[in-house]
Amino acid sequence: MIDMKDIVALCKRRGFVFPASDIYGGLNGFWDYGPLGTELKNNLRDLWWKAMVTCPPIGPDGTPVEIVGIDSAIIQNPKTWEASGHVGGFSDPMVDCTETKKRYRQDHLVVLTSPKADRWPAFHEETEDGEIEKKLKKLGMPKDVSLFEKVNLTTLDVSDYAKVVAPDVSEPGTLTEPKQFNLMFHTFVGATATEDNKAYLRPETAQGIFLNYKNVLDSSRVKIPFGIAQIGKAYRNEVTPRNFIFRSREFEQMEMEWFCHPDEAEKWHTFWFEERTKFWKSVGLSSDNLIMREHDSDELAHYAKEGLGTSDIEYRFPFTAPGYGELEGIAHRCDFDLKQHQEHSGTKMEYVDPQDPQNRFIPHVIEPAAGLTRGVLALICEAYTVDESRPSGVYLNFHPAIAPKKAAILPLTAKDEHVAPAQKLYLELREEFAIDLDIKQNIGKRYARQDEIGTPYCFTIDNDTIADGTVTVRDRNTMAQERIHIDKVAEYLREKMKPASIEAGAKAA
Ligand code: ATP
Repeated sequence: MIDMKDIVALCKRRGFVFPASDIYGGLNGFWDYGPLGTELKNNLRDLWWKAMVTCPPIGPDGTPVEIVGIDSAIIQNPKTWEASGHVGGFSDPMVDCTETKKRYRQDHLVVLTSPKADRWPAFHEETEDGEIEKKLKKLGMPKDVSLFEKVNLTTLDVSDYAKVVAPDVSEPGTLTEPKQFNLMFHTFVGATATEDNKAYLRPETAQGIFLNYKNVLDSSRVKIPFGIAQIGKAYRNEVTPRNFIFRSREFEQMEMEWFCHPDEAEKWHTFWFEERTKFWKSVGLSSDNLIMREHDSDELAHYAKEGLGTSDIEYRFPFTAPGYGELEGIAHRCDFDLKQHQEHSGTKMEYVDPQDPQNRFIPHVIEPAAGLTRGVLALICEAYTVDESRPSGVYLNFHPAIAPKKAAILPLTAKDEHVAPAQKLYLELREEFAIDLDIKQNIGKRYARQDEIGTPYCFTIDNDTIADGTVTVRDRNTMAQERIHIDKVAEYLREKMKPASIEAGAKAA
């Protein structure tokens, strides 16, 4: 069982992810990406952009589907968020504990109920059974969890809260009634901080796309069905940011709004669900750790009350295992957003069929919405492999297209006869690949470092290189070594970067 503490420690030690404002003690829910984390995040971002915008999938009719990209402002006219429903509805019901002053999302607390007991202990949903047993014992209650019914706090009547013993306290009755808590960060635009100048940091990238739907239609040659994609930062004042970068207050999303005829929404919902699942597998997430899940009707977002609902692609993170956590949602947003913006802005959002002007409709939207930073976490968790037999004790099994560094060039010694050809090779390869040239320390330590940062190949320059022009290639996963000619290194790497060998590489590990 992988411990998140080890993953977080490796991420800091090797420069993937640091707590934001670290020297000031951090800021809860904010993270900075270090040199390697930034490369990793950019690689995932670029592969998504390629899979959606520059080389989108072949559609059901055998030709590539059409998607264009945009990059909209983070702060938009605040009417945007009234129209989208975020000002009125983007909130989580919260309960406070009057004793510990902790605040919980109502749907994140699990309560052990029993008609016989007058005290019903409550736990954060991820609390392990061992911890639950300890608390039951402390409260002088039977330790056997199966004697209780585990229910979500949302299902209890507020009058029952008098019996609920909140986490970290020993007496019941400290939880307040649920209150709505809006998740949008606000700021003021201009010099005066008045209600009139209030604006919001976007809580999703999707609305920037809806705002530009008309502009894109009028300025490019796209025809229904088509998509608009965007990658960028989103901000949510999450009540309980946790699980490292899984739930943070500033994060990045990769979203695409697919505009289609209402009659075709179902076909495209299925299409995008399959394509998005393929994508996550192609970047190295194993099928064993992915599941698809339909949202229950009570968790549907305000825009999805009608239509086909939302299907999630979920990943088994170490902190959700044996369960899963959402990685991407594929929602049928119907015509909700375009209609709302039409109503609130007065701009017509109708699509007029260029072949048949009688055929006018407001398109339906299928939205694959993924977390970029949450995707980075899934990639790191998937790659994290314990191997006691090697000096690092652990390696990151990224596949080559995702790995922050594709290869390391290691001169065996710091002598010029080894360093000079290494530098020459490095200067050639860096034009095409992200390459590390590492000269210091003994070779074992350098291999260990490359293993820990997930570099798939190391090329070592030694005396044989001087004699016959060959270098050693060390494979990260198998630690097997072979010799190839120095002139063949670029070709070797190019071959390994290809998706087919990526698939095979991921399986071999
Ligand atoms: P949740 O139920 O986990 O709060 P959500 O269903 O509200 O998430 P969406 O609004 O559908 O999430 O956002 C799309 C994607 O953005 C999610 O699948 C997730 O990958 C990512 N995401 C959402 N909130 C966060 C967050 N606080 N931190 C990191 N990623 C997030």
